Amino acid sequence: MSQLQGKLAIVTGASRGIGRAIAHSLAQLGAHVILCARDTAKLHQLADELKSQGLSAENATCDVTRPQDWEALAAGIKQRHHGKLDILINNAGDGVFGKPLHETSLEDWTRTIDTNLKGVYLGIKTMAPLMIANGGGDIVNIASLAAKNPVKNGAAYAASKWGLNGLSVSAAEELREYNIRVSTVCPGSTATNLILDMRRANSKDADTSRMLQPSDIAHAVVTLVTQAPQSFISELLIRPTRKP
Ligand code: NAP
Repeated sequence: MSQLQGKLAIVTGASRGIGRAIAHSLAQLGAHVILCARDTAKLHQLADELKSQGLSAENATCDVTRPQDWEALAAGIKQRHHGKLDILINNAGDGVFGKPLHETSLEDWTRTIDTNLKGVYLGIKTMAPLMIANGGGDIVNIASLAAKNPVKNGAAYAASKWGLNGLSVSAAEELREYNIRVSTVCPGSTATNLILDMRRANSKDADTSRMLQPSDIAHAVVTLVTQAPQSFISELLIRPTRKP
């Protein structure tokens, strides 16, 4: 229960869905978790819930597309935690579904790419220097099986996640010499708002009973951040056992 005791972790997109489950799992293993997202009220609620269970967390409102929000987060970590960041989970994500690329608005395209790709770039740009100074760390990027396959009526989302894969494997090569593992988790359909919106947009049944649960993705993240120091699992692909 205390494998991550004394570790400091950031989880983006912690206000709901997969990020919420990841935050919970890391806190249960003893980490102090900084909960990031835009919805301050939900972050407060989660921080209070974790603390009421004797776990350690704080909330930090952060829009991952805004460099100034990342800089404020880094300043807080330097001030209150002596810059000792161990784990960064880049989970925040957005997507627009239901329209072919040629009917996708520039606004939807930009929001998707900015959240899923620029947000991770900014996270690594801001936080990797802290990890380098500390002698190592773990960065886990939540991609998707959409990063491996075509996504009809979801090209912007697919492009962001294929791009995230390229970003991740390249940053991994850059950072491994600093004892930092950059890995990706590629979930299949997981029962959250995002997949339900996607299914509805494509007029597909939104039955969640066969889907992965957010806790399944959290389990994969825990596997990555609790590896022995010499081991580097660089990618995990997760499918529901039976097709939803
Ligand atoms: P979700 O329930 O819609 O949650 C998305 C999270 O991202 C929310 O906490 C949201 O918080 C946060 N977020 C969105 N834009 C943000 C921004 N600009 N700045 C900060 N936070 C932002 O979706 P989910 O399924 O849990 O998705 C989590 C990750 O898993 C995403 O990267 C998604 O692409 C990936 N994924 C999901 C599935 C699936 O089937 N569900 C499959 C593969 C991969 P706020 O709105 O409070 O900011």
